[in-house]
Amino acid sequence: MSGAGLPQPAADWAYFLDVDGTLLEHAATPDAVRVDADMRALLAALQARAGGALALISGRAVADIDALFAPLRLPVAGQHGVERRDAAGQVHRHAFPQEPVRRAARRIGAFAAAHPGLVFEDKGYNLALHYRLAPELATEACAVVEGAAAELGEGFELQRGKMVLELKPGGRDKGTAIEEFMAEPPFRGRTPVFVGDDLTDEFGFGVVNRMGGVSVKVGDGGSAARWRLADAAAVRAWLGACAAHRARHGA
Ligand SMILES: [Mg+2]
Repeated sequence: MSGAGLPQPAADWAYFLDVDGTLLEHAATPDAVRVDADMRALLAALQARAGGALALISGRAVADIDALFAPLRLPVAGQHGVERRDAAGQVHRHAFPQEPVRRAARRIGAFAAAHPGLVFEDKGYNLALHYRLAPELATEACAVVEGAAAELGEGFELQRGKMVLELKPGGRDKGTAIEEFMAEPPFRGRTPVFVGDDLTDEFGFGVVNRMGGVSVKVGDGGSAARWRLADAAAVRAWLGACAAHRARHGA
């Protein structure tokens, strides 16, 4: 499946793309993913065709995304909208109290260190506990993260993803990140297209649907998205077709 049934690419599309599970297949650990040269070339071509209106929308930290996609430096929202680099290269960070997050990080980190197979990812404001390598620990891991969430109290929330539990500041998500980009050039006035695979992407699908855009869910599972692609390979093929379509018709 490579986008059959999806709307014809349009010259005014702005592309918002999740990374893990969308552009790249999920790996055993977050560190294990690689971005190949073809993917870099595809994103650069699509960004050029869209007049610069392409952004990555990820749960990863912006620095992590930059390291993955280097030498590309794309507009990007990291940590589920807590940090964002706009198309002009300016970085926006939403401020949150650090000390309670550090306490929660120590607590979850200690639990992960004591349980082989768990991978703790401290992104600064987002704390992620991955149990892909130890699914039998899901219940226990959830109890620990829920405990840390309760201690952090209001202002933070527990977010479930694929084999991952994340503690994140409330009020920011992938949807607010897309809204912020859409208020700025070169995104403003375009039709938003958002492609994502996980529960956290539903915030983005909601925003894009309200804007009359194109929401695309990758893989199985319930979703507010209006269209669907099977996997990361299908996403790559479809984005390739979008880039080629624009190339044929001119920008
Ligand atoms: Mg994803």
